Amino acid sequence: MLKIGLTGGIGSGKSTVAGIFQQLGIPVIDADEIAHELVEPGKPVLEKLAAEFGPGILTHGGELDRKALRNLVFHDPRAKSKLEAIMHPAVFAEMKRQAEKIQAPYCIFAIPLLIETDSQALVDRILVVDCPERLQIERVKERDGLDESLIKRILATQATRQERIAQAHDLIVNTGDLSLLEKQVRDLHQNYLNLSRRRNDP
Ligand code: ADP
Repeated sequence: MLKIGLTGGIGSGKSTVAGIFQQLGIPVIDADEIAHELVEPGKPVLEKLAAEFGPGILTHGGELDRKALRNLVFHDPRAKSKLEAIMHPAVFAEMKRQAEKIQAPYCIFAIPLLIETDSQALVDRILVVDCPERLQIERVKERDGLDESLIKRILATQATRQERIAQAHDLIVNTGDLSLLEKQVRDLHQNYLNLSRRRNDP
């Protein structure tokens, strides 16, 4: 099945775009959601994390203490690499597993850090949602109530707009209103349906 990797910086409009694809009946497999599910108590990935980083990353109830883990990797690049070496393959394997069960002309792999994690090979095409940083900041302020300096710090940890766009097969420029965004997604949907048809019936 044709897999479209949906990515973009924080506040660019990825989730909104994913929601529009879903309304069009297209399955969305979300890397962040899967990452959350994989670390639920009793899951092997959580056990691996505890074995690697010690019981300090668990709450008394045996759940992942996200704050403790974040603090740990924030100060230690080697720990961050180890965390990624556990999480990324597990997330990507689960995404593939879920895609294999789906019957649809194509599906969306929503991967916010697709470029940063070098996971281009996982998908057939890369769809980037882009808008100027100013708009990203305004949208995130409004959505999450975060202050501007924190949003800027998050932006600084992500790929630049140029880095992302350089790898895009398809680009959504999300600077207009929601109806314009919907129109762009509907047009892409038609393209993807055509691509999928051609793949399956060359
Ligand atoms: P991301 O998933 O990339 O972080 P979201 O899809 O959550 O971004 O969008 C960020 C915020 O901006 C959300 O509150 C969303 O409703 C809003 N938003 C996104 N695109 C538009 C748009 N074209 N017009 C108005 N609001 C938008």
